[in-house]
Amino acid sequence: MTKEQAQEGGCACGAVRYRLEAEPMIVHCCHCYWCQRESGSAFALNALIEADRVSLLSGEPQPVATPSASGKGQTIFRCPQCRVAVWSHYAGAGDAIDFIRVGTLDEPGRLPPDVHIYTASKQPWVIIPEGAPAFAEYYRRSEVWPAASIARRAAALGLK
Ligand SMILES: [Zn+2]
Ligand SMILES: [Zn+2]
Repeated sequence: MTKEQAQEGGCACGAVRYRLEAEPMIVHCCHCYWCQRESGSAFALNALIEADRVSLLSGEPQPVATPSASGKGQTIFRCPQCRVAVWSHYAGAGDAIDFIRVGTLDEPGRLPPDVHIYTASKQPWVIIPEGAPAFAEYYRRSEVWPAASIARRAAALGLK
């Protein structure tokens, strides 16, 4: 991704602005009850990207500890002024990987979901596009992620 194509995003009041310096490794559409409750909507759209490939342009998102489906909790980073959530950290990947809230990007339509997860709890009116990868709960990374993204994740987490 060139700088011209880089995706920028931010909160509702404009205090927090950020830029993605690479394409995300994968985009999740999560239909779990936790994401429904936390978003107040039918699902959450999260773009997974290495935290060091997200440039903060202004503002300082504040961490808020929040329950998650796994029981291990997540940290949601919110604008200190308008409190809109811009990304999360989960227990598995810790601080190394940002789960960017796709709806906070300036052009969210450029990042459609690569995979639907926790569809067992999806709202009944949500129709998953035919052929889209979808899982009742979670999935095996090796069956869904492109090889390049698996390598990027391993590098971000310091795995071999
Ligand atoms: Zn704000
Ligand atoms: Zn979820």
